[in-house]
Amino acid sequence: PQTAYLCRETDWVSDAEDIWLYSHEECLADKKKQASNFRHIEEESNKYAAARITQTVGNKIIVVNPPYPPMSQEELDRSFDLPYTRLPHPKYKGKRIPAYDMIKFSINIHRGCFGGCSFCTISAHQGKFIVSRSKESILREVREVAQLPDFKGYLSDLGGPSANMYRMKGKDESVCRKCKRPSCIHPKVCPNLNTDHRPLLDIYRAVDTLPGIKKSFIGSGVRYDLLLHQSQDAAINRSTAEYTHELIARHVSGRLKVAPEHTSSRVLSIMRKPSFEQFETFKKIFDRINREEDLRQQLIPYFISSHPGCKEEDMAELAVITKRLDFHLEQVQDFTPTPMTVATETWYTGFHPYTLEPIFSAKTQREKLAQRQFFFWYKPEERKNIINELRRIGRADLIDKLYGKRK
Ligand code: SF4
Repeated sequence: PQTAYLCRETDWVSDAEDIWLYSHEECLADKKKQASNFRHIEEESNKYAAARITQTVGNKIIVVNPPYPPMSQEELDRSFDLPYTRLPHPKYKGKRIPAYDMIKFSINIHRGCFGGCSFCTISAHQGKFIVSRSKESILREVREVAQLPDFKGYLSDLGGPSANMYRMKGKDESVCRKCKRPSCIHPKVCPNLNTDHRPLLDIYRAVDTLPGIKKSFIGSGVRYDLLLHQSQDAAINRSTAEYTHELIARHVSGRLKVAPEHTSSRVLSIMRKPSFEQFETFKKIFDRINREEDLRQQLIPYFISSHPGCKEEDMAELAVITKRLDFHLEQVQDFTPTPMTVATETWYTGFHPYTLEPIFSAKTQREKLAQRQFFFWYKPEERKNIINELRRIGRADLIDKLYGKRK
């Protein structure tokens, strides 16, 4: 398991259950075939028991064996309970490592993510099935961190690939074992998914009572669509509301980072992200809890420009919407192709791997900068270019919305 190798065609014995991809040469000649190959790769990496994948390359065959099944909790605990020094490699002695500053007082409580965002490689690294550490293992690590010489009582993160998926899994695991959905929450939360936040609340509360811990912050990204989801079970809905309150009132270090990623429903659907209305609903809840608790915390939304499917017009509308919500964006990214993601395959091939529909992607520097500038509509130096661009794309109607009445 978990290996790929190249072998001679004459040495290969195929199995009826193997998945045969279009050959490397066919993909070079036809990018649609490459796109269609990727669907299998993603589906198999998100299955409980994946098939073996094979592809002909010249007179050889690449064989991709299935990955190992998800770890058990005991195996995960064992891997976290090893006697790590928690220090950077000695070759960095005396040097400041910004990434180390960020993680030195943070605790990873689970692995895996069932979000399935199109641009993210977590499904390729860790898969969609969540494996959670036991409470004992987490508390043991927190106690160790509390003993570190420069620890002042503040944990920077109690999280994972997504902050709020701890212990979440299918109610009927036999259904999950056959499932190949890339996301358990997009386009809708799967009715088989148990979205109970109580085990996570229990971890936060247990950590906060440990000696030496003044506060535990949540630095990992929170999936607000899970917080807004109404399940059939009233107790689970109460736990979600309680979690939301506790998160915002006690675990935000001044700024809570969330990732709506875009405002356009069409782009968000290609990204496999929830609708922007859900972000707006969450913002109202965030603002209300802040008022009630007399806190002045900020919600920091992350956005991406030039994602496959995103056009300049979508970015222009994003500028108008973020202006209406009074956001001056700072945390933004220009889409960068990352191997093994559905977004990158769409970007490279021009086709969506699942629907095989053609999808536009901004690729040239000019196209990408034209999209990116809309994030910064509030900067005086961007204003002239944005106005010119809005005229060029036939959306002069948005000029007033961004800059008020023109003289
Ligand atoms: S059945 Fe539902 S909960 Fe289970 S893996 Fe599939 S999408 Fe996720």
